[in-house]
Amino acid sequence: MSSNNFKCLEKCGFCCSFVFILKETYEKHKDKLQRPVRVVYQVGNEVGIITFDRTCAFLTPDKRCAIYEDRPEVCKQFGETKEIPCPYLKPNGNPRSEADKKKILRAMKKQTKDFLRNKTLRLIRLA
Ligand code: SF4
Ligand code: SF4
Repeated sequence: MSSNNFKCLEKCGFCCSFVFILKETYEKHKDKLQRPVRVVYQVGNEVGIITFDRTCAFLTPDKRCAIYEDRPEVCKQFGETKEIPCPYLKPNGNPRSEADKKKILRAMKKQTKDFLRNKTLRLIRLA
């Protein structure tokens, strides 16, 4: 989910799968978790929260961010830069072509798979 000039689609939340979040933020907002957590991995001072449906643990049923003010930087920038593209909208907020959308969705799927297969991230399991 993004902010500023880039305006997310209404009630989308599609990109809210898993993110690394500061451990401190996670501890602060544990009471705002929106779904059961499968496992939490710690990497440095951040944690990766994996849920059973692979949706971000802080995404509310009406597709809002339960920790909006403290959301990670990547969430603030998602869609606004070429490096972290939204599958639906261009950084200027215009809709993407179907071809572009498919390409980005494929890349996102691969990224998720790679992340979940990355054994080095499994060094510290918190929950
Ligand atoms: S950045 Fe794109 S995919 Fe993510 S919530 Fe906004 S519109 Fe949806
Ligand atoms: S922290 Fe908020 S904005 Fe970021 S992925 Fe989770 S629900 Fe979405």
